Amino acid sequence: MSKTHIPGLHHVTAISGPPQPNVDFYTGVLQQRLVKKTVNFDDPGTYHLYYGDYAGTPGTILTFFPFADAGPGRAGPGMASAYAYAVPAGEFDGWMERLAEQAIDFDGPTERFGHRVITVRDPDGAPVELVETDRVTDDPLDGFHSVTLWLRDLAPTAKLLTDVMGYEDRGSETVDGVERLRLAAPGDAKGTVVDLMRSDAPSIGRPGAGTIHHVAFRAEDNDTQLAWQEAVQTAGHSVTPVIDRQYFNAIYFREPGGVLFEIATDPPGFATDEPVETMGQSLMLPAKYEGMRDRIERVLPPLKGAA
Ligand code: ZN
Repeated sequence: MSKTHIPGLHHVTAISGPPQPNVDFYTGVLQQRLVKKTVNFDDPGTYHLYYGDYAGTPGTILTFFPFADAGPGRAGPGMASAYAYAVPAGEFDGWMERLAEQAIDFDGPTERFGHRVITVRDPDGAPVELVETDRVTDDPLDGFHSVTLWLRDLAPTAKLLTDVMGYEDRGSETVDGVERLRLAAPGDAKGTVVDLMRSDAPSIGRPGAGTIHHVAFRAEDNDTQLAWQEAVQTAGHSVTPVIDRQYFNAIYFREPGGVLFEIATDPPGFATDEPVETMGQSLMLPAKYEGMRDRIERVLPPLKGAA
């Protein structure tokens, strides 16, 4: 058991509208792999789609609950407002060219902590940031770089991340009146960065399509997760029991600024119920829903090109 610091992000879960444009965007434009096609375990009439790298490595996983009739949401204080992918070294200009060739609009590039950032909108309007990094990989994107949390008061959330979860303060930057405090987990895992953003803009968030539902951090194994559960509880935050999510175990708690946090285990991973070579092609159901497969498949919209 090694509970000195959280290694980084495990996954980010967001809400989308109809699933087909979501699949087309994340697998087509952003070249992610659909690593798991399953259902919302709390609402088996809707999909739960997982995108990541080929193996479904923690720190590359973006998941969606696609609701065909989800109204548009809007990020605001107390919500995670953006996720950022790490662009490997030397690939940033190539990404801008490819997006332009596909007539996909993006904002930027701007500079953030010395690195270029562009922002693309997914089909539901969610801001997807691409951050230039010096990481070397053959993958089109190297998993997550960061998430941004939008908060009224940065200090209590920063204290949780540094004092309890082992993050380090990397300084702050203010651009156009918006303060951004950067915290990072030690080490070189994927998705080590959490940016805390304070804006005085009189905005109120509204959950819905195009917004982030929760942010999940990694625990290397079940024992480490239990140690984090105790540490978070001891720091005064109310934590759920361990919940079996089939591909990982999960605990949830709300951080002081209002964002829903999760700590998810690396094991068993996404190859636990199908071979890695064909992950994402078939609808996978947990045992408790297998008996309802015919009914579930009838209500789910068909998905094309999801391999
Ligand atoms: Zn989650």
